Amino acid sequence: MTCLEAQSNIMAFVDKKLDDDRTKDFVRHMKHCDNCAEELEIYYTLIVGMRQLDNNEELSHDFKKDLHDELTRIENRAKNAKRFKLSTFGIVFTAAVIGFFLFYSSVLNKVYTIEQNIIKAEQGDYYFYNHFSKYIDITTDDVIVRSKEMNKPIEKSFYQKIHSYNITHPVWTDISYEEE
Ligand SMILES: [Zn+2]
Repeated sequence: MTCLEAQSNIMAFVDKKLDDDRTKDFVRHMKHCDNCAEELEIYYTLIVGMRQLDNNEELSHDFKKDLHDELTRIENRAKNAKRFKLSTFGIVFTAAVIGFFLFYSSVLNKVYTIEQNIIKAEQGDYYFYNHFSKYIDITTDDVIVRSKEMNKPIEKSFYQKIHSYNITHPVWTDISYEEE
């Protein structure tokens, strides 16, 4: 905010007609610019004093202090708002970080468990082979399946079936027996 802007906002400030952002900028300027602060003090004393007279209120003893208190109050309110925003951000950020680490460690945990299981399984296999191979004939073949394959009856073709049927059922000789 420039000095010109600040000074043109003095009336609106005293009337409390500036929005929050402009009020913040205005107060910040007044805290750092002695010229404008002096200008504000004069206008503040004049306007507030005349209003108090108009309304038959008791005149303030210290306009300068009133103004200073008012500026400080606005400044603190802005600081608190900022602090609240920061702390909200902080909480959300911390929660996100914690959440990420929980997720990450659970994934690591799962990977670790899987690795351990693989290692255990491998160790189990080795243990089994090392200790029992003497007693058991370990083979990669499925012995039962192989023996079934070997003992399966050979499929006959259709003509072979007729042939074997004819041999076991001699039709013509039957007829000749009947004739005798
Ligand atoms: Zn200024």
